[in-house]
Amino acid sequence: MKLLGGIEAGGTKIVCAVGDAADPRTIVARTQFPTTTPMETLERCLEFFDAHAADLRAIGIASFGPIDVHPTSPTYGYVTTTTKLGWSHTNFRGPIVERYGVPVEFDTDVNGAALAEHRWGAAQGLSDFVYFTIGTGIGGGAMVAGKILHGLIHTEMGHMRISHDHARDPFPGQCTFHDDCFEGLACGPAMEKRWGAKAQTLPPEHPAWELEAHYIAMAMQSVVCMLSPLRIILGGGVMSQLPLFPMIRAKTVAALNGYIQAPQILKEIDSYIVPPGLGNNAGVLGAMALAEMGTA
Ligand code: ADP
Ligand code: ZN
Repeated sequence: MKLLGGIEAGGTKIVCAVGDAADPRTIVARTQFPTTTPMETLERCLEFFDAHAADLRAIGIASFGPIDVHPTSPTYGYVTTTTKLGWSHTNFRGPIVERYGVPVEFDTDVNGAALAEHRWGAAQGLSDFVYFTIGTGIGGGAMVAGKILHGLIHTEMGHMRISHDHARDPFPGQCTFHDDCFEGLACGPAMEKRWGAKAQTLPPEHPAWELEAHYIAMAMQSVVCMLSPLRIILGGGVMSQLPLFPMIRAKTVAALNGYIQAPQILKEIDSYIVPPGLGNNAGVLGAMALAEMGTA
């Protein structure tokens, strides 16, 4: 069988998988391990793919960032200025290319997930949409006119500023780069620090959810105004709390305040802000969707 390889590289864990090149949603083998030092982590990736080397046609790497995604850059395929200890200026793609000699596509985890949602999930047929993950960090990837938006480096939507009422929420935020950015106020670890308990243990009536929905809706207002997406997909661990969706939808509509006259917002908000069609597989299938581009 011809195979595609995928690496979903998160700050906490790495998933490596191989899937049928004819339809990489058919995962043939997969493994998962914690993200430790670059050297150890890369070795474990190579060890996994070595077993399938003869059948590999392409590999996709969907990585945490910031990363260098410009093929003409001398540091293409590197993790650049990350806050993840030991990973700054790591050549991630290079050793994989060297070992297998197949096309290796490299992009952010959220851009990968956006591609997968476009190919197989909740954004099929849409030329313009945004995908967010709200988990350990917050990241957003956009498709604009049928292409993933890269520009200067790649989008860093988790670091947009959010207005912060310190009387309502004294928690200062936890991004080491910015006061009051989306990730710093609303990622899973921010919820945990603010409330002193892991997000998944907070009961449905806890005020945490109302505040979380508020921050997410503030970000959604900015995204709607800046990118004019046809749909917004919200994934990641925190968004597995499905009751957040109706709260976020209502607060986004309220925040926009009738300004954007589009039926998708005024009448069809339930199908405008949605969970991933691929559920928890959006990440690993994102790496597969990137690999598939490598074979095109
Ligand atoms: P990662 O971002 O590392 O890929 P996740 O998307 O699962 O992983 O995000 C992990 C974060 O999401 C943690 O902060 C965790 O507390 C939170 N989280 C995980 N599961 C849930 C859940 N069911 N409800 C609310 N928060 C969750
Ligand atoms: Zn920030």
